[in-house]
Amino acid sequence: MEQQHLLRSIPKVDELLSEASGVAWEALSPAAVRDGVRGALDALREGILSGALSALPGREAILEDALARAGAAELPSLRRVINGTGVVLHTNLGRSCLSARASAAVAEVARHYSTLEYDVESGSRGSRHDHIDGLLASVTGAEAAMVVNNNAAAVLLILSAMGRGGEVVASRGELVEIGGSFRIPDIMTQCGCALREVGATNKTHLFDYENAIGPETRALLRVHTSNFRIVGFCERPGLAELVELGRKHGLPVIEDLGSGSLVDLAAFGIHDEPTVQQSVRAGVDVISFSGDKLLGGPQAGLILGKKQYIEKLKKHPLARALRVDKMTIAALRETLWAYRDGERAREQVPVLAMLGAPEDALRARAEKLRLALAEAGAQAQTVPAEGQVGGGSCPTQLVRSWAVAVDPGALTVDALAEKLRRFPLPIIGRISQGQYLLDVRTLLEEDVDDICRAVKEAVS
Ligand SMILES: *Cc1c(COP(=O)(O)O)cnc(C)c1O
Repeated sequence: MEQQHLLRSIPKVDELLSEASGVAWEALSPAAVRDGVRGALDALREGILSGALSALPGREAILEDALARAGAAELPSLRRVINGTGVVLHTNLGRSCLSARASAAVAEVARHYSTLEYDVESGSRGSRHDHIDGLLASVTGAEAAMVVNNNAAAVLLILSAMGRGGEVVASRGELVEIGGSFRIPDIMTQCGCALREVGATNKTHLFDYENAIGPETRALLRVHTSNFRIVGFCERPGLAELVELGRKHGLPVIEDLGSGSLVDLAAFGIHDEPTVQQSVRAGVDVISFSGDKLLGGPQAGLILGKKQYIEKLKKHPLARALRVDKMTIAALRETLWAYRDGERAREQVPVLAMLGAPEDALRARAEKLRLALAEAGAQAQTVPAEGQVGGGSCPTQLVRSWAVAVDPGALTVDALAEKLRRFPLPIIGRISQGQYLLDVRTLLEEDVDDICRAVKEAVS
């Protein structure tokens, strides 16, 4: 009886809608407002039916709940977050951040018509490949280049065009799974080529490749073990030796470089990561790597190599299915353009700026954040931290960094982490040894005010 009475006294949707007015409500779209109001009323109904609610909350409280729900409904599920994890290429957080110039270029072509496939000189049709291919070849020293949607697509295209109907030889130690069920052996099957595995997990010799070459062989494949390392009793032939073997038998050598850095990261204390130019110089026939890993550009698959093979790839039917859009081209052009001058790339490309930030600068940044937090009334201390490159790149390298450890006050560190994560602009930190850390390596200048505001609200 009581329950029936309560259910009947739940306000009607239209009633509540008519009361939902004021600045906060006006900022929301009508659809979000409706969703918010419906959500709040549904929650009341459920609460009553389950027995959790024995009295209706006041009108104010219901409206407040509806407003919160409407605000949440308005938020896109894909939105900006603040990365305090110290993992520079965080795959779950969107890998690389574009430079200011690259993101401005994206906005420009997104909002307007563009020369995507139009040649203003002749006033006739142009090619979308022309915006990137020459620049990419000149920056890397390759004969020719092309771009597809991501590196997985690049590998798919290369193996389909060059291996179909035959065998591709690859080392057992390089049969990588890169995540999301993308495994080299499976992708070979998908591309219609037979994998000819050679060597052992830890050791593959040049003669292993040579012994496997036969009339069905179409190519030799090298895969950069970007997301894991085999250490200890291990060996594989040098790239130049493999290329020489390929030449001897008239077979192309293909390399999936994975992360693909254009600068030598040894300068940043990151060893063990080959550069793209090294592979080009070694004479590898076709090389592919990601646009949004160490290059620091948009999601893309960059393909470089000998002209005869790149031409073949461009003509393959899959190339059309895997082509990139104008926004990717715009972002990639600006990113690659910065690389024409190494110094400029280090300043402008966020991935490089983050990886190359010197320890004392990071320490100073942490101190600045600590002071800003103190001013906002939140306690924190600066602590040394260890970050990661991430994105399945340089897996054994920890990069020394600095962080602020935020005092959770009356909260537990887990509760603090959850509160900060659930803000409209989510803040993602890291819990280490019982402390809530925000690693400053991956924070952007503009994040500081938002962090202070959120932390203050969370701990108060
Ligand atoms: C990351 C990676 C890929 C996939 O690249 P995406 O750009 O994410 O598609 C392929 N191969 C290797 C070795 C990788 O490290």
